[in-house]
Amino acid sequence: MKDCIFCKIANKEIPSNIVYEDDKVIAFKDLNPQAPIHILVIPKEHIESLNQIDERNANLISDVMLVIRKLAKDLEIEEKGYRVVNNCGEYGGQTVFHIHFHLLGGRKFSWPPG
Ligand code: AMP
Ligand code: ZN
Repeated sequence: MKDCIFCKIANKEIPSNIVYEDDKVIAFKDLNPQAPIHILVIPKEHIESLNQIDERNANLISDVMLVIRKLAKDLEIEEKGYRVVNNCGEYGGQTVFHIHFHLLGGRKFSWPPG
């Protein structure tokens, strides 16, 4: 999608620090990390938010989750634990409207979130 920053990252039109890629999913380091490990995992297909997930595209979310699972293992954070976050819409704190899942690790997180 034109003017979508994460589509541009997926299409290599703008640089990013890519840590994983296959035909459907790409993962790259967050520009403004909130933890020692902070990776964004996205489907390459432009989907605005969780509100646009349906039976047709839900398989892409399981593809994303499998990549998160693999990264957690490869980055050796699976044992201590980590956090996966999806911000949806204004109240959810979403600022980039191409669905993405934050993989955060390397420190202990508190609950509830702010
Ligand atoms: P959210 O608030 O859930 O929409 O998260 C958007 C995230 O994208 C923020 O954590 C930003 O730091 C991150 N971000 C924005 N632009 C870029 C970029 N060009 N490369 C990597 N991360 C980015
Ligand atoms: Zn997009």
